[in-house]
Amino acid sequence: MFALYAAISLVPVLVLGIALAASLRGEAQRRGLAEGRSEAQLIARTAVEPALSARPVSAGLNARERRQLRQMTTSAVANRDVLRLRIRDLSGTVVFSNDGSDVGHNDHDDDALDAAQGEVSADLTHLNADFHDVDPGPASVEVYQPLTAGAGARRRVGVLELYLPYAPISRDISSGLHRLYLDLAVGLGFLYLALFLITASVSRGLRREAALNAYLAEHDTLTQLPNRTYFHRRAVDAVAFAVRHNESVALAIVDLDRFKEVNDTLGHHNGDRLLTELALRLSANMRPGDMVARLGGDEFGLIVRDVEEAEPALRRLLEIIDREVDIDGLPLSVQASMGFVIAPEDGTDVDVLLQRADVAMYVAKAQHVGVARYDEALDQYDADCLALVSELRRGIDAGELLLHYQPQSTLVDNRVRAIEALVRWEHPTHGLLSPDRFVPLAEPTDVIDKLTRWVLREALTDLRALAPSDDELCVAVNVSARSIVRTSFAHDVLETLEDLQMPAGRLIIEVTETALLVDPERAARVLTTLANAGVKISLDDFGTGHTSLGYLSALPLHELKIDRTFIADMLHNSAHAAIVRSIIDLGHNLELRVVGEGVESNHVLASLHDSGCDIAQGFLLARPMPRDEIERWLVQTPSAAQAA
Ligand code: C2E
Ligand code: CA
Ligand code: CA
Repeated sequence: MFALYAAISLVPVLVLGIALAASLRGEAQRRGLAEGRSEAQLIARTAVEPALSARPVSAGLNARERRQLRQMTTSAVANRDVLRLRIRDLSGTVVFSNDGSDVGHNDHDDDALDAAQGEVSADLTHLNADFHDVDPGPASVEVYQPLTAGAGARRRVGVLELYLPYAPISRDISSGLHRLYLDLAVGLGFLYLALFLITASVSRGLRREAALNAYLAEHDTLTQLPNRTYFHRRAVDAVAFAVRHNESVALAIVDLDRFKEVNDTLGHHNGDRLLTELALRLSANMRPGDMVARLGGDEFGLIVRDVEEAEPALRRLLEIIDREVDIDGLPLSVQASMGFVIAPEDGTDVDVLLQRADVAMYVAKAQHVGVARYDEALDQYDADCLALVSELRRGIDAGELLLHYQPQSTLVDNRVRAIEALVRWEHPTHGLLSPDRFVPLAEPTDVIDKLTRWVLREALTDLRALAPSDDELCVAVNVSARSIVRTSFAHDVLETLEDLQMPAGRLIIEVTETALLVDPERAARVLTTLANAGVKISLDDFGTGHTSLGYLSALPLHELKIDRTFIADMLHNSAHAAIVRSIIDLGHNLELRVVGEGVESNHVLASLHDSGCDIAQGFLLARPMPRDEIERWLVQTPSAAQAA
């Protein structure tokens, strides 16, 4: 059976092989046209027709149709997938043209009129778009393709006139054909096999599907922008091109500030609309040959060829992003930060370049300067720190964070009342990092929100496993200023509690005074919501900030934690001893519990006890320890605490 099939298919294959060998160029062109035709069909079906309504385009395009077409063509032209795109009505009049050419004109073009009757035509032409690597010979494939619209029985509504770059098509085909030619010389049998395979692989159906898949694999479905894969490939090409021609090229990373807040407060649907609008603005403002891609989330990548103008161009884009967006009648504005590198000066390896652009982006964000170029002279320590933040984002997803727990015990009867969750980072190369190494770096960026969410969920999950039924035992979680004032913070916390089926009363949120001063009113509102739900609020590092007593009494607090610098030397520094006693009195007058932290000696413990302090925490009782260890520690507790 297979032999018969093989024998039958040998005949046309042989004929095709001989025809190909006889007329390599002619065939290449024919194939180029066929390829152009099927590409045009693909573009018509997947991009143009979905943008059109069912009526004939002679009625004129509406604003929405124009907007969508412009968005689609701007990014396609910027990526050099398309050189020019026009839409004509059924009489041949141009109603849309991406470069504005000939709109309103009718040159009674035969091909256009044939297409209006349903016929597709393709020709090789010399449309000279500023296409960098134009081969001598035809520069483009010009295709006329009927456009249909409407559900069910589709009607012809207009004609798509498309110019596709010929060079990439001809490169593909002639390299395939050269291979064929060689194979012919090698032998008929081998030719047969090769043709058999190649014929199958170039069959039109497959090619169309492959083209569609290739498009989907390289574009972001939300914004239609090229995705990270495509961006990376084009960046590699652009850097190689620059190196070959002694030129430079800039790569930039754009990250929106506080985009997560938009998503949280207005919903993902509106977050998506914002991203789509910004993508549209960015691609509409790209120069020919430049590129914008969506790298993921709220991060975009740019390739800018004119490096002299790179920084001003990026600043202009920032302004463009900054302009208000109308989301459901709500004027919204988002800011962004950009970091960029210039190749080959800042490197030639695209992965390294993008990481450096990322570092520069964090500099821009942390220093609120909008745009920053990667600077090698940048203190290496800073660079490492900044690189660390970008690694942290991935580290959290990769499960590199862990929590240590330190117990807090009552001074009257030595019972463990809570365990404080203290985050650590098991870094793949730097080893175990303490929070002081990375939390302050994450705080100016939205990475801190990710970290807070992770800690909260992890701590509550651990507590549930450690003490499922002990309603007396709480877990204390440290929360940074930035996370507190995020609008959705209270909601996130309550949702997590609900999710894990944990009573709100088992969670203590530790905030520092300085955190509250960032936005006191908002912080008070958020904390009140939480306190009303039963969450306990503890004011950490108390005594170091400048909280006014008026503000303090307005906060829904449960406890004060005396800063450990006062505790550490209270036995030798009488001023600090007085501060400790005053804080204890103040706390009690406000009906708050008072925690002394940083207790390292029995003398300090005894002194706190005598002053009426409620709870102690410190190395004397126990150091922060991993989950398994605290589990054992809790089992032995009363005795361990008494021994202290
Ligand atoms: P903190 O909230 O004041 O946490 C107490 C710190 O004091 C811990 O340091 C703890 O190990 C240390 N400590 C406890 N007892 C003693 C003692 O007797 N003597 C001395 N010298 N130190 C003691 P750690 O774990 O390095 O945490 C440092 C800071 O990092 C924390 O200070 C907190 O501000 C921050 N942090 C820790 N985990 C998180 C977190 O999940 N989120 C946020 N936003 N910040 C965190
Ligand atoms: Ca704390
Ligand atoms: Ca503290």
